[in-house]
Parts: sequence; C-alpha cells; structure tokens
Amino acid sequence: MDDLADLYQEIILAHNKRPHNEGILDPRTHDAEGYNPLCGDRLVIHARQDPAGKLEAVQFSGEGCAISRASASMMTDAVKGLSGDELRKKAQQILEYLTAREAPPALDLAEYGDLAALSGVRKFPARIKCATLAWHTLLAALAGKEQVSTEEA
Ligand code: ZN
Repeated sequence: MDDLADLYQEIILAHNKRPHNEGILDPRTHDAEGYNPLCGDRLVIHARQDPAGKLEAVQFSGEGCAISRASASMMTDAVKGLSGDELRKKAQQILEYLTAREAPPALDLAEYGDLAALSGVRKFPARIKCATLAWHTLLAALAGKEQVSTEEA
C-alpha cells in the first residue's frame, strides 16, 4: 500500500509541476471561479461546449495548492470530449468518491488513469475540498454560474 501511496503522490506532484491545460481558453462559452476558503485555492475553469453540448476544450487558471492544481489538471484531461450527461456523471462519480463517509475502494488505475491518484487524497480529510474544487467549478461553469465556493455545497 505504501508503494501505491507513493505513486499517487508522484502523479499529483507531476501534475502540479507541469499542469495539463493550464491557461485561459479562447474562444470559450463558459467560465466560473471556484473558491475553497479552507485552503485559499481560487481556480477559474474555462470551457467551450459545442452546440450539441459536447465539451470541446477546457482549461484552468488561478492560484491554488498542489492538490487543487493537480486535480484541475487531471480533470481537464478526463472530461475533454464528453457530452453534458457523460461529464455530469463522471463529475458526480468523482465527487461522491471523494466525499463518501465510508471509505470506498480505491479508484482503479487502469480505468481512471491519473485520476486514481485522488484516492490518495481521501486519507487527508482537510484536503478533500482542494481536490473537489475543480469539479464543483466545472459543474458550476456549465450550469451558467459564475462563482462557486466549496462551502456552499
Ligand atoms: Zn488546497
């Protein structure tokens, strides 16, 4: 299990150091700013949906801790190309996983890829909102909300 914990940490640190899809997407159809007052993370998610609701592109910008940035980086990789329904389903799955009271089985690396590293965050309850921030913010953006806080949910 320690090897797995190390692997999760490596994945998160690599995404923080060289985030995927960081920047201000242009053109875009949706923007929302998410704030996690517990840690001070403030991320903006920029998204472009095609007329049928498929997420053509997504980027993030802003300031946050390693976990919040890594989660945003991994999320942008995981949701690109999804339809609105697929995306909401995936986001809900990840949010439920991160916030479930009873510890769920770890996310499967083969199925979830780098997102499986979020399994490592469950061990640090104080940091779970760092990991959920990007997901809440993406859902808010696509729902037409401009701002969201992890303390509203
Ligand atoms: Zn944080």
